[in-house]
Amino acid sequence: MLYCGIFLLKLVLLYATLRGLWIGLVVLLPPPETFLYHRFRPFGHDLRWTAVILLLFLLGCGLLYLAVWDQRFRCRSCGRRLRMPVLRGSYSRMLQEGRPKFEYICPFGHGTLSVQGTKFQGREPCQWKANKGLWEHLVAADRGGN
Ligand SMILES: [Zn+2]
Repeated sequence: MLYCGIFLLKLVLLYATLRGLWIGLVVLLPPPETFLYHRFRPFGHDLRWTAVILLLFLLGCGLLYLAVWDQRFRCRSCGRRLRMPVLRGSYSRMLQEGRPKFEYICPFGHGTLSVQGTKFQGREPCQWKANKGLWEHLVAADRGGN
């Protein structure tokens, strides 16, 4: 729930940023010139407005990409950034042991994200594995040892 909430918050902030930039551009840029008493829409008719709108579109696409990329490396339970990448496997023994992968873990132990270390088939999905009761298990083991 928090994971989706963070993503929605990022999308809302992205929309507000782009909307604010658009309002600022409308205020700052001069309106397109009229041609034969006709005022055309600026996109596609005025070079300055067309270039600015295309740059704003590219900025929006870039920010959306960053939001999705950042969301990929967040904990599915608490929404915090995953940390401590650990390489599992070996590049030199890839044929014997399989492909190496990086494992990222939530700082609070909610789960582990496995990302392939090599990309053979383009985009490959990551595997999220929830650690159910990791800390409770450790605390119980510690109490049992005393
Ligand atoms: Zn977490």
